[in-house]
Amino acid sequence: MFFLRLYFLCVALVATSTLGADPKIPSQTPEKSGRKAPTEQNITFNSVHTEGPHIAMTFDDGPSPTLTPKLLDLLAARHIKVTFFVIGENVAEHPEIVARAAREGHEIGNHSWSHPNFAKMSQESVRSQLQRTDDAIKNATGKRPTLMRPPYGSLTEREKHWIHDEFGYQIIFWEVDPYDWKRPGPAVVRNRILKETRPGSIVLSHDIHPGTIEAMSSTLDALEANGFKFVTVSELIRMATPQASHSSPQPGGNTSTKATLSPSIAPSPTSSPSG
Ligand SMILES: [Zn+2]
Repeated sequence: MFFLRLYFLCVALVATSTLGADPKIPSQTPEKSGRKAPTEQNITFNSVHTEGPHIAMTFDDGPSPTLTPKLLDLLAARHIKVTFFVIGENVAEHPEIVARAAREGHEIGNHSWSHPNFAKMSQESVRSQLQRTDDAIKNATGKRPTLMRPPYGSLTEREKHWIHDEFGYQIIFWEVDPYDWKRPGPAVVRNRILKETRPGSIVLSHDIHPGTIEAMSSTLDALEANGFKFVTVSELIRMATPQASHSSPQPGGNTSTKATLSPSIAPSPTSSPSG
């Protein structure tokens, strides 16, 4: 009888402690958005988990014959390195601007030949868009790109994998989007970037809009005053530090709840027409 009572007591205790523990179990995991499976983390990037104050500014859709040289001047004056995701057609027209950007330490990434929506195209057409641009960048700079950003951030899961397998590209989206393509004015572009940028951010904008270039002097100065340091996207990726996650439990089941309770979920670039 004593043992029976002890048994019920134990059962009751276990039940109570289990119930009591429930609220401490995080109800959200970093996989909530379903966008970042562990195997994909080495292929696609919206941002990078880093210990330092580093960020990557990226400029899409150029080169522009008038605006890109202006941007290069103000970057050179500040010793800031950025990444350009260029359109192949524009590279073929102004290879000297892309050559200058590469010579001055900026990174050049592939942003397609003519800015179509890859998600709606055949594999053959996407391959041609990427290959022609890859060749144009090689002709202009002497180096093939290692990064690709799909126009509009639009890419199917299948495309992500075969593009990575065939071209070896890391596929770069973004975390901070000032919607500068809507031309909201330099002050709005600056304020949006300043508000949303955090360590490890990849910031999107376009060097084909006058307001964006106008915004950059004060934006870069303010970011620098806030302690941020500018690196290229490839440099930022190399600085990535591992982030503890539910998806890789340690032997013994000792996962870090601290890390999983504060996931950094980036906004989905595919929901915006930027890029
Ligand atoms: Zn674009």
